[in-house]
Amino acid sequence: MTVVALGVPSVHRPQSPAPEEGPLVDTFGRVATDLRVSLTDLCNLRCTYCMPAEGLDWLPSDEKLNPDELIRLLGVAVTRLGITSVRFTGGEPLVVPHLEDVVAATAALRPRPEITLTTNGVGLAKRAAGLKRAGLDRINVSLDTVDPARFAAITRRDRFTEVVAGLRAAKEAGLDPVKVNAVLDPVSGLDDVVSLLRFCLEHGYQLRVIEQMPLDAGHSWERERALSADVILSALRRHFTLTPDPRPRGSAPAQLWQVHDDGHVTGHIGIIASVSDAFCSTCDRSRLTADGQVRNCLFARDETDLRALLRSGADDAALEDAWRAAMWAKAAGHGINDPGFVQPDRPMSAIGG
Ligand code: SAM
Ligand code: SF4
Repeated sequence: MTVVALGVPSVHRPQSPAPEEGPLVDTFGRVATDLRVSLTDLCNLRCTYCMPAEGLDWLPSDEKLNPDELIRLLGVAVTRLGITSVRFTGGEPLVVPHLEDVVAATAALRPRPEITLTTNGVGLAKRAAGLKRAGLDRINVSLDTVDPARFAAITRRDRFTEVVAGLRAAKEAGLDPVKVNAVLDPVSGLDDVVSLLRFCLEHGYQLRVIEQMPLDAGHSWERERALSADVILSALRRHFTLTPDPRPRGSAPAQLWQVHDDGHVTGHIGIIASVSDAFCSTCDRSRLTADGQVRNCLFARDETDLRALLRSGADDAALEDAWRAAMWAKAAGHGINDPGFVQPDRPMSAIGG
């Protein structure tokens, strides 16, 4: 693979056309096999680092892919482009009534991709078993604190009990390993992460702490305020014995640590240093928004409109070509640490995290 230089702005204009067949590659030799699908931009929480209190200008219904259109694009991704892993996200994917149908249709594709879900967990208690039956393999539930009052302050909603019930139901349904995604509050986060890790160890969940990224709708992210992986790790090490997980990391964004107690490994924690130690050089992701736009990076400033192609009667070969061209133009890195960095117009909730 070509070595990818990090830190260039996220616009890239390749001089040559994309390959017409083979894996979904970019000009730096990276292969996209992991597709993130945003099912909706709607959400029932208002996490401060993601959405403003009043919500956003939601996508009109007719601009969103309907289930048939989405399933057709998933077919193109899996059968023609070599996607082997599909993660449904949003917005909040559990507010989408056809989620189970889309999971089942994805599970029917061959070769069957791995199917995962990222959710805030509200309403999951009632749906975890059905999602498992439909074909869901694994789940990440977002939870930034185990203090109910702080949960309400961060999410601007009083739904803590429901999220905890959702986690329990996911484990009971066999969606193993259940992972907990946490974005830490700049003020309370270093306390929150200690009790979160204790909670996860106690219940058998795997904690993933994600550095906060400049993807909030309010554009209020400040590098100096966001907690970095190093700071988070130091805070945890005051309470836990952590050693690097010996397993190869591959293209996984999380650096994994083993948690020890009394000489035994009692669990794992992953830290995703998206800002302070970007993993762009091994990125294997492609993204599809709820309104049918392919994005080759969370931070991309260009999108490719597959919905318009679909609705104009394009065949699968044309959709494949457009998707290949979109990924071919993937930049080397997200560019967050460049002086000229420009935050994308779409916030995280409208891209799909
Ligand atoms: N609503 C679902 C949820 O919260 O899990 C799925 C969508 S959410 C956008 C996906 C993930 O992105 C969540 O784990 C959330 O914590 C994370 N996220 C949202 N805004 C973020 C930001 N500015 N920086 C880093 N992660 C963020
Ligand atoms: Fe909703 Fe997820 Fe954004 Fe929170 S992080 S506001 S749950 S989309």
